[in-house]
Amino acid sequence: MSSDDSYEPQKIEKKWLESWQREKIYSLKSRSSNKKYYILEMFPYPSGEPHMGHARNYTIGDVIARVIARKDFNVLHPIGFDAFGLPAENAAIKSGIHPKESTMANIDKMRKALKRMAITYDFEDEVITSDPDYYKWTQWLFLLFYGMGLAEKKEAGVNWCDSCQTVLANEQVISGKCERCDSTVRKRVLSQWFFKITAYAQRLLDDMELIKDGWPERVLTIQQNWIGRSEGARVDFKLDNNGRDINIPVFTTRPDTLYGVTFFILAAEHPLVDTIVTDDCIKKEIEKIREQVFKQSDIERGSAETEKIGCFTGQYATNPLNGERVPIWVANYVLLEYGTGAIMAVPAHDTRDFDFAVKYGITIREVISPDGKNHGPLESAYTGEGIMVNSGPFTGKKSPEGKKDIIKFLEEKKIGSFEINYKLKDWLISRQRYWGAPIPVVYCDRCGTVPVPEEKLPVLLPYDVDFRPTGLSPLAYREDFVNTECPGCGGPAKRETDTMDTFVCSSWYFLRYCSPHLAEQAFDKEEVNHWMPVDQYIGGIEHATMHLIYSRFFMKVLYDAGLVAYREPFTRYYPHGVVTLGGQKMSKSKGNIVNPSEIYNKYGADALRLYILFIGPADSMVDWSDSGVDGSHRFLKRVWRLASDNMEFLRNHATCDIAYEKAGISLKTQYDLGKLDNLERDVYKKLHQTIKKVTIDILDRFNFNTAISSIMELVNLMYRYNEEVKPPSRHSMLVYESTGKLLIILSPIAPFITEELWQIMRGRGSIHRTDWPDYDCEVVKEEMVTIIFQVNGKLRDKIEIQGGKPSSEIQDIALSSEKVKKFIENNQVVKIIVVPDKLVNIVVKQSD
Ligand SMILES: [Zn+2]
Ligand SMILES: [Zn+2]
Repeated sequence: MSSDDSYEPQKIEKKWLESWQREKIYSLKSRSSNKKYYILEMFPYPSGEPHMGHARNYTIGDVIARVIARKDFNVLHPIGFDAFGLPAENAAIKSGIHPKESTMANIDKMRKALKRMAITYDFEDEVITSDPDYYKWTQWLFLLFYGMGLAEKKEAGVNWCDSCQTVLANEQVISGKCERCDSTVRKRVLSQWFFKITAYAQRLLDDMELIKDGWPERVLTIQQNWIGRSEGARVDFKLDNNGRDINIPVFTTRPDTLYGVTFFILAAEHPLVDTIVTDDCIKKEIEKIREQVFKQSDIERGSAETEKIGCFTGQYATNPLNGERVPIWVANYVLLEYGTGAIMAVPAHDTRDFDFAVKYGITIREVISPDGKNHGPLESAYTGEGIMVNSGPFTGKKSPEGKKDIIKFLEEKKIGSFEINYKLKDWLISRQRYWGAPIPVVYCDRCGTVPVPEEKLPVLLPYDVDFRPTGLSPLAYREDFVNTECPGCGGPAKRETDTMDTFVCSSWYFLRYCSPHLAEQAFDKEEVNHWMPVDQYIGGIEHATMHLIYSRFFMKVLYDAGLVAYREPFTRYYPHGVVTLGGQKMSKSKGNIVNPSEIYNKYGADALRLYILFIGPADSMVDWSDSGVDGSHRFLKRVWRLASDNMEFLRNHATCDIAYEKAGISLKTQYDLGKLDNLERDVYKKLHQTIKKVTIDILDRFNFNTAISSIMELVNLMYRYNEEVKPPSRHSMLVYESTGKLLIILSPIAPFITEELWQIMRGRGSIHRTDWPDYDCEVVKEEMVTIIFQVNGKLRDKIEIQGGKPSSEIQDIALSSEKVKKFIENNQVVKIIVVPDKLVNIVVKQSD
């Protein structure tokens, strides 16, 4: 084996896959250590062929799992499949293949790819959410929530996708479109099952304190905005209902503007509208408005750009603060779902109210003035703080102070109170579709809604169902499913025919992984408390407002139920970036998918793994390139040649055997550094610096690409040494140590080639069972420098890194610092000054 032609990835990879399987190299959790590490990648949704996004996600997790396991941790690194859900069903409708069959076929493909890529999963412990063994416990959890008063069926205006023929959760509506099929979503009023996630709104915010060090700030910000906490006041307006008063509360964050209320708005679909409107002509007009409004999505309705439409109801409401009667209108931009479905309109100080008032000629009254003066007709709404004017006894006060005083006044008079409002809505979990876990509830004429008792679970999903969408749940057409016996009275009853949103299944799978085969319970409490929380979670940021909020909610409910000891499921979360092709997100519908199998069949899995990590920073969007894989393949050939050359030398060298013995398993240094010449010292230093950098880059920074670059630099230097110093003058111990440790630090990334070379070098033991090497602190220390990161001259972060880095690399590190990011977000970066080994100053232009 002396030339790179003898590197044959297909041959060695096949051999090692079989060997590792036999040797159980993948069970990382069985090692005995008192330190645990739970690493988890979001499990795949098997809707089609595996793609490069999958390859990236799972390779990142795998490399971390492999390194952590070798730092003496017991590692749980499980896999499963998020197997229920709409896409499988939609595909089944097109192809005519049953969703169960197509899902299982897709799981097979995915499993094959993951195995071929040597991702360290123990497939004997895999979990499939569409298995009755699993969804039995999803149903059990539903009943637990029901018992705790956290699951309820209620009438609500819901998001309806005409194309998928089902309702969607708010989180599944992206810019007014269906998250699954991209069609426009419209409102329908239906009776549906909800999980009361709103009861946990404040705790979802408060507990961010527990995870703030391990989650990117931008993800927590997305969740904060989604939960949308605001402080203000509830104010009780009275509606004149043909002589009888109806109390209708509104929520406002600006009680200081109450004197500026010149009209009152009800959502067009508000049920009160039909009660209060008596005039037939107005009724007709409102119907016309409603027709237009219902064609708009919630996003469109709420958008500042959308034209405001509405009409006067002919009725009046009374402002409780000053007793003023103001006209009641209906309008498109007030939504029934938000707050109470009614607002007090203050056109002088709210942009949308201003536009509406101008269009319909309604009075605009200034009550907050920036300078305390009256300004006559306003050109636009003034939304800032200021001095209260035209506000009765509150006139002349500063508005923040006035806000408090007015709330106090409202409370004293019992016409309102301080209130906290959340934008978060309850989680709609019913789906009028087939491929999901049936909701375990029956309806009885005598007993009402009756939960299915635990011993009758699972409520099995029948196989033979016509699942073409009709708008009604497909299960409703199976009479033998629908008609059942009431668990309460034994009389005839009907089953719920909706199934659960697939996000319910994925809200607890990480708990099931801790005891995947347990038949008697959803999870083993002890196992869960041992492994949880997940130490590192990896997956796409698109789940920030769905899966990542739902899972946090589930964990809190289970904590309250006394079933788990932790309140947060994921201590650290890392969102990786997407892989594009020609600048476009890879997707089946666009036909631009690179299947990992094309790559590993041609270059081997090592080249694929190496390239997917080397392609760019793991959290950024990267564009796939075939020539890039070719480059990775060439680098592996270079490693092969270098190691071969060294092995040949070591084998022929007289001291070879002694060197092997003395080096021992951990390849400890047994030679006098003082006796090395300059180039040898450089190799030694570079080796130890690289070990340190690779360790930190992988475990702390997710900088896989720079870890790989530093390994490449090490290989270059080792080449130089081999070229300049021919055997027998080479320092055999140094060559032995550097070759061995190079293979070890490359092995999590390229497990096959390193195992093969390791076997040739040592002839025993798997490289994947070696300890992760330590580095020589003395040698590494002298090279470290501290670099300060500034934004507009102010210190924002600092790091200790190896000196002598190129400016571009230091700049990248500075820009990726979370602490720095906070200060450059939303601002324009004007200039970046880098003083090598000292500081980076980022100059930004503040936007407003
Ligand atoms: Zn849809
Ligand atoms: Zn009954």
